[in-house]
Amino acid sequence: MTDDGPVWHPQAMPGYDLHTHSTYSDGTETVEANVARALELGLAGLGVTDHDTTEGLAPASAAAEGTGLEIVPGIEFSAEFDGASLHVLAYWIDPANPELRAELKRLTDTRFRRGEMMIEKLQELGYDISFERVRAIAGDDLIARPHIAQAMVEAGIVQQEKEAFDRFISDDGVAYVPKHALAPQDALELITGAGGVCVLAHPGMWKGNGSVPDELIESMAAGGMVGLEVDHPDHDAEQRAYYGALADRLGLVRTGASDCHGARYDFRLGCETTDAERFAELKRRAGR
Ligand SMILES: [Zn+2]
Ligand SMILES: [Zn+2]
Repeated sequence: MTDDGPVWHPQAMPGYDLHTHSTYSDGTETVEANVARALELGLAGLGVTDHDTTEGLAPASAAAEGTGLEIVPGIEFSAEFDGASLHVLAYWIDPANPELRAELKRLTDTRFRRGEMMIEKLQELGYDISFERVRAIAGDDLIARPHIAQAMVEAGIVQQEKEAFDRFISDDGVAYVPKHALAPQDALELITGAGGVCVLAHPGMWKGNGSVPDELIESMAAGGMVGLEVDHPDHDAEQRAYYGALADRLGLVRTGASDCHGARYDFRLGCETTDAERFAELKRRAGR
């Protein structure tokens, strides 16, 4: 809060929406629009938690400056456990932390540049495969292995596409670049190492309608995770009661948030919040 901002009365605050997305990831609204909406709603604070990027943090802070709205800097990581993706929220991480920067680069590279990286490997191995040709074959799609295989046949490097896979780009091929995903414990370590605190996002959304296994939540709590996102629009009353009790048992801070993506899922910013007392506890655990 700034000295010259409006005077807010804690009791009157409808709380902190700790999980929102903007155009920096898959939200439809800019961070500035999210800040404006939070102000309109009279929220006390807004978590800026785009997927795998911290780019929205500075513009969000700039947009909120002098308004009394507290921007809670965050990020939402996709991790993988038992072959399924799982989301981990981080708050108050240092965006300049070198390990964090390296990991974010690895995550975006392998999501958007994995095909390109395989072509680079082939070129390094001395094969004359044209990047432009593969791009043309892929058209509007991200470059994937079948496109590369087709280009390798055209270039006469292999006789058939199957041979391209067998010798080069199958999972144990010499030019293969694996997909990259963080294990939940690694995400937790990365977050803690970057000075932040970790909260497990929507535990009731795993493998479709499943639930993140309690054992994993327990082991992450033991490893230093501080919160559990209990109040989420996609959790029903039964799940809230269950995760609320689990959070209490494990000493985790119960958080609430809209997970707003703008027009995708109904402009729901502020529909769920974390109250001032729980927010203060989260912040205390972050050493802020
Ligand atoms: Zn998520
Ligand atoms: Zn999200």
